[in-house]
Parts: sequence; C-alpha cells; structure tokens
Amino acid sequence: MKSAERTLPPQPTGGKQPCSYSCGRTARGWRWVPAAREWLPVCDSHSGGQVVAAAGNYYPDFATSVPRQPPPEQRDSITCPRCGRTSHHPVDVAEGYCGHCHDFTGRPSGEG
Ligand SMILES: [Zn+2]
Ligand SMILES: [Zn+2]
Repeated sequence: MKSAERTLPPQPTGGKQPCSYSCGRTARGWRWVPAAREWLPVCDSHSGGQVVAAAGNYYPDFATSVPRQPPPEQRDSITCPRCGRTSHHPVDVAEGYCGHCHDFTGRPSGEG
C-alpha cells in the first residue's frame, strides 16, 4: 500500500482563510488531502475529527509544537537600497553584495 508523501503543514491560517469546503466558515487549521497531495484550510467541522488528527493529517492553528513550513517571507533575502533588486543568495545576504550594482550596497550598518 502506497501513501502519498506528506509535507510539513503550512503556517497557521490566522483566521483569514475560508474553509476549502465552501461551507462559509473560517478555516481553523490545515487538513492533509492525499488525493490532492496538499494541505487545505478547513474549519472545525471539516477537520475530520480525532481519527484524522491522530493520523497526523490535521493540525489546528493552535498546535504550536509541530514543525511548519517556513513562510516565504522568512527566507533570507536582501534588497539593494540603490537599485531595489532582491537577492536570495546566501553570500549576498551575508555580505550585502548586489550583483546588479557590483557593489556592497547592502552592507550592514556600522561599517560605512
Ligand atoms: Zn468547513
Ligand atoms: Zn543594486
């Protein structure tokens, strides 16, 4: 029997996402849908209950002890103050280097 690979649950919905079952309620957590291979925001009623939660296929917003997918904006990045270009390259981020300006435009303060 083959089970779909489950990824880490996303960040809490923050009460801003509607339930993906179109029931009109606000999502209170994430439910793993193997057929779709993705986490869908669901309300309490559509969480699947204890059986689904026990299998690790549902995480409510208030579950803080579980590893979550990092939010996209938490990825290290640096934006050049001169040209506005954003880089995700670890060396650029560490040294404040802009590959577009060919200069250390984003150098951390205290060195200028
Ligand atoms: Zn619902
Ligand atoms: Zn630049």
